[in-house]
Amino acid sequence: MESLIRIRREIVSAARRMNALGVNQGTSGNISVRRGRTMLITPSAVDYEKLQPGEIVVLSLAGAGSAGKGRHPPSSEWLMHRAILRARCDAGAVVHAHPSYATALAMARREIPACHYMAAAFGASPIRCAPYLPYGTAELGLAAVAALDGRQACLLANHGVVVVGPTLERTLWLVVELETLARQYLLSLQIGGPILLTAEEMMEVRSRIASYGKAAPVRGRR
Ligand code: 13P
Ligand code: ZN
Repeated sequence: MESLIRIRREIVSAARRMNALGVNQGTSGNISVRRGRTMLITPSAVDYEKLQPGEIVVLSLAGAGSAGKGRHPPSSEWLMHRAILRARCDAGAVVHAHPSYATALAMARREIPACHYMAAAFGASPIRCAPYLPYGTAELGLAAVAALDGRQACLLANHGVVVVGPTLERTLWLVVELETLARQYLLSLQIGGPILLTAEEMMEVRSRIASYGKAAPVRGRR
């Protein structure tokens, strides 16, 4: 199991990168990482530039217990993170963010269809939009779990996005890809809308994308 301090540092660095990359702003958004039967999660409303590894909150994934009172309370979305980590054993990390283009689509309660082959990186198409529910509620967590079924990402109506991945690094990469896809889709809608890829075309690319970036090193000629 990875050491606590390593994960704490990784979360702080990912939270800062998420804002620097332009896929989130201010103290919006939150990050969790699974560690055994616990999750490590960003505290609520703390400026990511000032956030210290020791301020990351550790919560149990088991039981119906509520968040304990530490120096900082955990993210207001801890119930959503816990619900997702419980439901998705493939998820090692969960990132919630408010990226502008994806959130613009979420405000219009639009899904993101198979408009580009990169949509395959998120599992089945379309990337769904979960119904509007108040932030921080258990109901929002359940809606996110349902919208994420078979997928790595979903939009949250009038709110933002949730992305899950095997590692925090991969999850943050997916957040950036999701925002890029949302921007491209919105641009395409302005010129009449995209011609969508077929289910067969998406299935074919899905098998390629599973190994994208994981290819064996090219051997030199003998
Ligand atoms: P926290 O600062 O409590 O994590 O909340 C930010 C947010 O995005 C709520 O949806
Ligand atoms: Zn939010």
